Amino acid sequence: MSPEWNAHDNLDFLTPEEMRSRLLEAQEFSTRVSTLTELSLKVDAARSREEILRILKDNLRRLIEGECAFIGLLSHNKTHYVISTLSPLMDAIELNHKHFSVDVGMPGWSIRNKAGIMVDIDSAPSFHPTLEGTLKDLGIRSLIIVPVHTHEEMVGALVFGSSKPNAYVDPDVWLARLLSLQMAISLRHTNLLERALKRVAQIGLVNKVARKLTSTLNIDELLASASEAIQKDFRYFDVTIFLMNQEKTELVLAAHSGNFIDFLPHGYRQKVGLGIVGWVAEHGQSVLANDVSLDSRFLAHQYHNTNSELALPIISDDEVVGVLNVEDTKLYAFDETDVLVLETLCDQVGSAVRNARLFEEIKRTNERLVELDRLKTDFVGIVSHDFRTPLSTIMLAAKSLLRKEVSSDRLKEYLTIIVDQAGRLSLLAEDTLSIAKIESGQLNYQFKVVNVEAIIQEAVSMVKISARHSFGSSIDMNCAYVRGDQNKLRQVLQNLISNAVKYSPGGGQLKVTVVQSEEQAAEFTFSVSDEGLGIPPEYLGRLFQKYARVDTGEAGKIKGTGLGLWICREIIQAHGGKIWVESEVGKGSTFRFTLKRGT
Ligand code: ADP
Repeated sequence: MSPEWNAHDNLDFLTPEEMRSRLLEAQEFSTRVSTLTELSLKVDAARSREEILRILKDNLRRLIEGECAFIGLLSHNKTHYVISTLSPLMDAIELNHKHFSVDVGMPGWSIRNKAGIMVDIDSAPSFHPTLEGTLKDLGIRSLIIVPVHTHEEMVGALVFGSSKPNAYVDPDVWLARLLSLQMAISLRHTNLLERALKRVAQIGLVNKVARKLTSTLNIDELLASASEAIQKDFRYFDVTIFLMNQEKTELVLAAHSGNFIDFLPHGYRQKVGLGIVGWVAEHGQSVLANDVSLDSRFLAHQYHNTNSELALPIISDDEVVGVLNVEDTKLYAFDETDVLVLETLCDQVGSAVRNARLFEEIKRTNERLVELDRLKTDFVGIVSHDFRTPLSTIMLAAKSLLRKEVSSDRLKEYLTIIVDQAGRLSLLAEDTLSIAKIESGQLNYQFKVVNVEAIIQEAVSMVKISARHSFGSSIDMNCAYVRGDQNKLRQVLQNLISNAVKYSPGGGQLKVTVVQSEEQAAEFTFSVSDEGLGIPPEYLGRLFQKYARVDTGEAGKIKGTGLGLWICREIIQAHGGKIWVESEVGKGSTFRFTLKRGT
């Protein structure tokens, strides 16, 4: 059937038979035009792209004959077109939703050249094995391809195919062109409408998610509910939230919601700088990868068949604190609106994380204050006990002296007791006073050149060393004088020696040594060592903190305030030195500190 549409035909010379055939052709054409009008009205009334495609699918065969019809719709960035099938045959060969580059296939040719063509499949100017090849295998011979575009914008290309050779004629192309124009306008309208509706819906959802974010101050709960709300409300395929670790070297998986079933394990960590997520954390910028196979940063995980990924930084106080990551198995799953909306949400997540962290900090400080308050109460009890014990010993000794005629040996013994206990009391009084002064910043120092041997002797004379202990000291020849506050240095040594006695209940050797520091000749290292209980390794790091005590084993049974070492550290640091301990449980401890040479 090939109607002759030549305006110069002379109808007068036609036979009645020919006249009838012409009339029939004209009648058929006018029916198809009215089908086109009807179809155009329907398409014009459609509210979504899906609806337009459905209308076409139901009506196309009435307009243009053939076994196959489909449309290749251009992707957002115009680099690919996606096939939407418009005939059952095309559904059957599973080309629906397949992507092709605009550089290949007949739809690509039509899009690039803004041109339509009616052609035999073997002479098609562009032939792609997966597209035209599959059609040829199915027996398709003739093709019509027309571009779908408005004045301003290219939308895609419409394709019709028939198994008959030379199946199409000019009027088919005209109808296809008219239809494609109508489609272009309608697709553009629905696209604008859909985008506007999506924005309105997203603004509503942003508010909803934001409200959820402010409803909790627990970070884990907060992120779990954020990822769930973002994934469900925005219908994303898969959403994860990572938080930066304290050292800012790794991202720790904090929350997940979505469809990847064999998901990354709980506590999964990814290095900053690694993968798209790591890149976002390092640079503080979003990444939109709509075809991850083209992005060299993409890190493929075993179970994920991700094709699109959108990752955004979560920023709080100008620092990246985490990354929000959205993935999809579809190509080109995200657009600029997604970026915009998720960036707004990331701002909200960032400030929610900051609030939650501040709250955690306040909670911790509060817990610490409560603990300090408890320790202070304990301290008052212990101090009053510590004051009372030596006082009653002194009283007893003094009363004995008053009551009886005492031999000179006894007299010496009682006086020694009184002196020892008075020494204990004075250290206690001194320490108690130092605490208040350190806390108010009023511990004043009088620095001068101090004789090392003199302070050691003074300190030892004020500590009661039991008969179970032996005591020795050695001072290097070059270490005769240090620079410091005599009284405070004596207080430090007295604390360390009395601890050495106190924490070696079984007795043993006590030693004080002074040597030149290995690193600096102008610095001396003092050591006070014992062969006592020793200190478990887990306590070593914190013994110099206020109220820190070993509260287990034998040492736990010995009473104390946990303040002596803290005072020692304050005094040594004020002298520009450092203090530390080396110890082994059951073998003993050595406390060391450094001071500057005195000359
Ligand atoms: P106190 O002895 O009053 O508890 P310190 O601040 O002087 O407080 O000491 C803190 C803790 O360090 C002690 O409770 C004890 O557990 C441990 N410690 C200090 N010196 C020694 C030592 N020479 N041997 C073993 N443990 C020690």
